[in-house]
Amino acid sequence: MLDAKALKELAAEVGRSKVFADREFRLAYSYDATGLEYLPDAVVFAESEADVVAALRFCRRRRVPLVPRGAGVGYTGGALAVQGGVVLVFTRMNRLLRLDRESMLAVAEPGLVTADLQAAAEKAGLFYPPDPASLKTSTIGGNVAENAGGPRCFKYGVTANYVLGLEAFLMSGEKVRLGAETIKNVAGYDLKSLIVGSEGTLAVVTRATLRLIPLPPVRRLFRVDFASLADGARFVQQVIQAHVQPSVLEFMDRSSLQAVYAYRNLPLDERLRAAVLLEIDGSPAEAAEREARLEDVVAAVRPLQRRRAESAAEQEELWETRRAVSPAIASLKPRKINEDIVVPAGRIPETVEFIAALGAELGLCIVLFGHFGDGNIHTNLMVDPADAGEMRRVDVALDRIFRRVVESGGTISGEHGIGLSKKPFMGYQFGPAELELLRRVKQAFDPDNLLNPGKIF
Ligand SMILES: Cc1cc2nc3c(=O)[nH]c(=O)nc-3n(C[C@H](O)[C@H](O)[C@H](O)COP(=O)(O)OP(=O)(O)OC[C@H]3O[C@@H](n4cnc5c(N)ncnc54)[C@H](O)[C@@H]3O)c2cc1C
Repeated sequence: MLDAKALKELAAEVGRSKVFADREFRLAYSYDATGLEYLPDAVVFAESEADVVAALRFCRRRRVPLVPRGAGVGYTGGALAVQGGVVLVFTRMNRLLRLDRESMLAVAEPGLVTADLQAAAEKAGLFYPPDPASLKTSTIGGNVAENAGGPRCFKYGVTANYVLGLEAFLMSGEKVRLGAETIKNVAGYDLKSLIVGSEGTLAVVTRATLRLIPLPPVRRLFRVDFASLADGARFVQQVIQAHVQPSVLEFMDRSSLQAVYAYRNLPLDERLRAAVLLEIDGSPAEAAEREARLEDVVAAVRPLQRRRAESAAEQEELWETRRAVSPAIASLKPRKINEDIVVPAGRIPETVEFIAALGAELGLCIVLFGHFGDGNIHTNLMVDPADAGEMRRVDVALDRIFRRVVESGGTISGEHGIGLSKKPFMGYQFGPAELELLRRVKQAFDPDNLLNPGKIF
């Protein structure tokens, strides 16, 4: 716990207008999208690299934890001060420093909001594809630290595929420049990629150089509805196998749709059990060819309904249904246990059926939706923590789901990271040798364990 003298020292070092230790501020920065709460001792708003250096120096000297934080919409507690200390917030360091049309790249401060970067790129006829559903709030720093994905990552890849270079500070205060402004770069170990997805535990990112690509001129959005969960999941695989190459391939099960339609006060077709949202993009010729392939698949599976958005308003309407899933299902039960498992494309239908059957067997409400194109099945166990019996059944379900996912060649997290909430499950993915290697990496970067401690391990 930082006493008044220490807080005074921090304010003097970083600047009074950037340091807050009153209870309201500490509370406001005590939680993220997990709903878990940990009070930091102080909140520091970095406005420049010098502020980052000063905050790191203070935490080193006082031997208190420093927790980097973007918008705080992470799903695994990564930005929470589990051991107190200083939360270093980057929302004031939010400038787009450069947008280089010739080299097709952008240089951003970590607090830049993802959607603002996308909008600036699109204005220049360019495209920054990583699109977490939280993109109107989340920051580039948070996206880099979590290696965020999103609907369009099925075709275009995740944040890591767009990070060319990083500037970052180690807990020791040393500044490191990793990567370059080029797509190719094999000089030395790929430390830049080690920082991407390191959840703020290895270094504090202060600048990111991001690759941009040409903006696809045509985008078309479709929704295909099914009367059975299995048909919907199989359709995802059929679309992949037919080489339709959609830019988005999102899935929603009956419970997701039921919750969204109730949330938006819309009538729901009784027969509807699953819906798949697809976007096709490219040049006009490419889009036409992909659409023809899609129509062949649709004709072969004979769904309940197929919709093609014919206007921007219809596109928005279809997107809104997908985006509303997370907030809508929150009303189903007091708590959502949100897993973002991934399986290889060939294992999607059997995994979906396995989880649905498990939910029925254990009497649990499990909602399935997400980026099924890349096998990222958002598995939401809706629970009441006050119900001890239900919580015991949840443990059984998670154990069986994680075992199955890893046996299928998948992973326990595709985009949300491990943070705090997935720590107990690391043993499903890694053996002692791998865990030890991960720990040694952490030690090499942060031997005193002051940077975002208590996460991942
Ligand atoms: C409704 C909703 C939908 C979502 N959809 C998606 C989705 O589709 N895909 C997806 O991938 N995620 C999704 N997420 C999760 C979340 O939005 C992402 O993980 C996002 O990247 C978090 O960004 P943030 O700025 O809020 O980071 P924070 O939550 O503030 O922090 C996340 C992690 O990044 C670290 N960090 C932040 N800034 C820095 C920095 N400058 N240097 C070093 N470390 C830093 C923190 O320490 C922490 O470990 C969703 C969340 C919500 C609430």
